[in-house]
Amino acid sequence: MTAPVHDAVLSVRNLEVGFRTADGELKAVKGVSLDVARGETLAIVGESGSGKSQTMMAVMGLLASNGFARGSVKLGGEEILGLSPRELNRFRGSRMGMIFQEPMTSLDPLYKIGRQLEEPLRAHARMGRAQARARALELLTLVGIPRPKERLDSYPHELSGGQRQRVMIAMALANRPEVLIADEPTTALDVTIQAQILELLAGLKDKFGMSIVFITHDLGIVRRFADRVIVMKSGEAVETGPTEAVFAAPKQAYTRMLLAAEP
Ligand code: ADP
Ligand code: MG
Repeated sequence: MTAPVHDAVLSVRNLEVGFRTADGELKAVKGVSLDVARGETLAIVGESGSGKSQTMMAVMGLLASNGFARGSVKLGGEEILGLSPRELNRFRGSRMGMIFQEPMTSLDPLYKIGRQLEEPLRAHARMGRAQARARALELLTLVGIPRPKERLDSYPHELSGGQRQRVMIAMALANRPEVLIADEPTTALDVTIQAQILELLAGLKDKFGMSIVFITHDLGIVRRFADRVIVMKSGEAVETGPTEAVFAAPKQAYTRMLLAAEP
């Protein structure tokens, strides 16, 4: 583990995540510590099943019902691990935003895009109908959706995969979070759209000064967008440091192997 970051927005210490299964307990995350500084992009890499997603799910308080977490998760200095779902709602969607791999599963197919953007604004930010509508339009414009005004009245299936991911980013940004957590946000998209989404995220980060935690298995993306990188293997953070330093001189054999496997 590297030295603690001074101005950390998010600070995770000795995080353990386990699941109760029919065969007993499965340890998915085994004592991970990480800090996210204000305005930085941190990438988490590692092979499938290494615990990347569950680390961040625990941070967001979104573990499956058979899961449990121990350790410490501080957001802006406040302990949030173990808070009730109701208490966590103060942070999720307001100070932490999140986007996932497959935007179709996160959007409700039965409701128009506008309504899905407006509802959290009305609930969290207590906006009136007209104000939420105006903000929804502003958000769709911000994430570069063509003809945003018409799109407020579209259903999710009327949009392309890339556009749906843009809507998810708009939703995640609605309450101006300090940290945006993105779990393989471009994996389901084709390569040119991937690049556009990543450029969008990088631009938004600079514009709002937010921090991004980015889970990916694409080392090219890490090279291009991440300030620091954490390499996970079998539930542990085996290497962490500035991206350039880690890629130029990986300390762990496992990291060297990941780099060698890069296409
Ligand atoms: P990654 O994102 O690095 O691919 P995950 O964090 O999704 O890996 O998974 C880590 C481990 O946790 C895997 O072995 C996975 O099968 C296990 N896991 C995730 N969710 C559950 C669950 N609800 N019950 C049991 N095991 C789970
Ligand atoms: Mg995952």
